[in-house]
Amino acid sequence: MDGYDYLIVGAGFAGAVLAERLASQLGKTCLVVDRRNHVAGNAYDYHNDAGILVHKYGPHYFRTNSDDVIDYLSQFTKWHPVHYRILSWTHGDYWPFPINLNTFEKLTGKSASSAEMVKTLERWRHDIPSPKNSKEVVLSQIGTRLYEMFFENYTRKHWKRDPSELDPSVCGRIPIRTNRDDRYLSDKFQAMPKEGYTAMFDKMLAHPNITVALNTDYQTIRKQITHKRLIYTGMIDEYFDFVYGDLPYRSLSFVPETHDLEFYQPVVQVNYPNDHDYTRIVEIKHVTGQQHSQTTIVKEYPQDFKRGREAYYPIPAPDTRERYHRYRQLADSEPNTIFLGRLATYRYYNMDQVVATALNAFNTITQNQ
Ligand code: FAD
Ligand code: UDP
Repeated sequence: MDGYDYLIVGAGFAGAVLAERLASQLGKTCLVVDRRNHVAGNAYDYHNDAGILVHKYGPHYFRTNSDDVIDYLSQFTKWHPVHYRILSWTHGDYWPFPINLNTFEKLTGKSASSAEMVKTLERWRHDIPSPKNSKEVVLSQIGTRLYEMFFENYTRKHWKRDPSELDPSVCGRIPIRTNRDDRYLSDKFQAMPKEGYTAMFDKMLAHPNITVALNTDYQTIRKQITHKRLIYTGMIDEYFDFVYGDLPYRSLSFVPETHDLEFYQPVVQVNYPNDHDYTRIVEIKHVTGQQHSQTTIVKEYPQDFKRGREAYYPIPAPDTRERYHRYRQLADSEPNTIFLGRLATYRYYNMDQVVATALNAFNTITQNQ
């Protein structure tokens, strides 16, 4: 395993983009290790026993506003344009979500114009000029009734924290609309890789200068191998042997079911803020474009994180950030090492943001050559 220019820990977006750039643009040799038995990190998808394309680690809806990110990834995939439509199940019924004019009409029981919705929200919303947390950000937009219906319990279930203990950006990333746009996301480009994420990663990593070693944990090989530079995309606290204690994360358990139906539910994702122990049911077939007589759904159950489980979500909050900051200071003085991606920088990043940070990191490497 010795003798590579770069050792890259993690074959997710952060690791794969850097490996691809370093190999194809600078002619560097890269060894990419991942402790899982596949590439693509959390974006991994595969055909299950029934032949249905599923996302192993929860739904991955690609979206971005960045032309650079689209141009870059388009070298490795064609796209299947999609409209991610989501419903929320509460009070015994499906509700259009994110909140929009259709949700408002259903709640009030009569038709309304956008102007009427704006006027009513003006009355309902709380006057909070600079929201300091997720509870305040929602209350400042839509008031208590809609907050309690759609946000309060979903957030508690997912994060095991009250929304008042989370950054405004957590609930603030869900749009509130006063028109009839019912897309879950607002970015200008919304599409899935045509053949899936794993196929896209296989192309990115196919360069002859890249070697991929799966089922290989950096923690067990780190003392045995030498490398010139390291790109690390795993958990930052684990890298430093938890010297400042464990950082908090949220984990999930995914429970799949295959049904002899073409479709199980009306849309790709149904959220359950107030019913059940799971937060959502995802039926990814709605957006992969696959034709199949059966369908697979996945129920997502939030879980506490402990060592040995997957750390899916860093927790965006002032107290966790402070704990991360101590590790960040160690990382800043680590020689010849770049910490990148969701786990190594403890950020609630979407895929396109990780691609963008990896491309930036590559530009910095190029400038410092
Ligand atoms: P990861 O994809 O986590 O890759 C890191 C890799 O490093 C992993 O494969 C891991 O096995 C490996 N690794 C870690 N430690 C070691 C070690 N010691 N040795 C060897 N290998 C190691 N983003 C979107 O844009 N849209 C979505 O709809 C979306 N939905 C999501 C749903 C869920 C449930 C989750 C958890 C995330 C979602 N994301 C979504 C976020 C997306 O998954 C991330 O932004 C992206 O995958 C991060 O890429 P990464 O390379 O930083 O990390
Ligand atoms: N959220 C909520 N109700 C919902 C959907 C989302 O309260 O029906 C909140 C919740 O705190 C969630 C956050 O908004 O964690 C972001 O939601 P998103 O669907 O973007 O989460 P992800 O797909 O990243 O898990």
